Amino acid sequence: MGESLTDTFQMLEDPDELAVLEEIQQELILQEQSVLEEYEQSLQFDEECLNAMLDGLDTSDKVICPVCRKNNLTVRSHLVFCQCGLYISTQGMTEEKLRSLLENTLTEHSHRCFHNPEFTVTSGMEEETSLLMSCSVCDSWTILL
Ligand SMILES: [Zn+2]
Ligand SMILES: [Zn+2]
Repeated sequence: MGESLTDTFQMLEDPDELAVLEEIQQELILQEQSVLEEYEQSLQFDEECLNAMLDGLDTSDKVICPVCRKNNLTVRSHLVFCQCGLYISTQGMTEEKLRSLLENTLTEHSHRCFHNPEFTVTSGMEEETSLLMSCSVCDSWTILL
């Protein structure tokens, strides 16, 4: 590409056409620069993503919702809820209490069973909603909240 462009330059004598070719070359350089810039921007974006993820890990008062495993649970003293629809009323709940509750229940289960238990939300018409950990392998279930 570069070679053929130089050859064309040498064959041309008309100054107007030369100017056009120079313009094209200039444009190619600009294009290359913008591609490089985009690449650098995407690198920067990746770095920001990584930092955000690390920040999330550092923030120890966040509790991942065990039901959807995507969102953080929002914990109020009398309420625990998640974007996925989990909505449970509690009393005197904190993120710390909730996390240790989840961890303890999971650890306790892992002592007697290797299967990953499932978390579900029960919803009865008259009963209050509660968070349930159940396992089909060892046939056990525990009400967490
Ligand atoms: Zn959720
Ligand atoms: Zn089990």
